[in-house]
Amino acid sequence: MHRMFPAVKPGCPKCTSANADFLHMIWSCPLIQRFWGKIENELAQILEREITLTPRLAILGITFDLGGARGDRILVGVATLLAKRDIAKRWMSPLPPTVKEWRTGMDWTAKMEERVYVARGCPKKHTRVWGKWWEFHGLVSTCTG
Ligand SMILES: [Zn+2]
Repeated sequence: MHRMFPAVKPGCPKCTSANADFLHMIWSCPLIQRFWGKIENELAQILEREITLTPRLAILGITFDLGGARGDRILVGVATLLAKRDIAKRWMSPLPPTVKEWRTGMDWTAKMEERVYVARGCPKKHTRVWGKWWEFHGLVSTCTG
């Protein structure tokens, strides 16, 4: 941004590090790492297993290494996609995204995907992906599975 628009200050707007390349902004910035850590912790609680978010998983979206149920891997894929969206929304902000924002996006996506799965006549698939999320957050799905 600074190279294209000299008026934009160089460096990370969050931690003020001079090294503000793409990887720093989306992954290694200490404030962004804290955000990823919270997402990782919440996913581990929901899925009741250890989840280690790596750049390969979180940035590239390669969930295969996680193993486990396919529905869980899809949930982690959506979770990291929405986390990246939240990071992008606050790209130039001094503040990192919040877990609350991320949860709101996850809830909204769960409800939209529920409609899609129901319309396709396969609500069980929705439950396999989102069931643990709904249960953890005390939400009620209209999918009976
Ligand atoms: Zn930074």
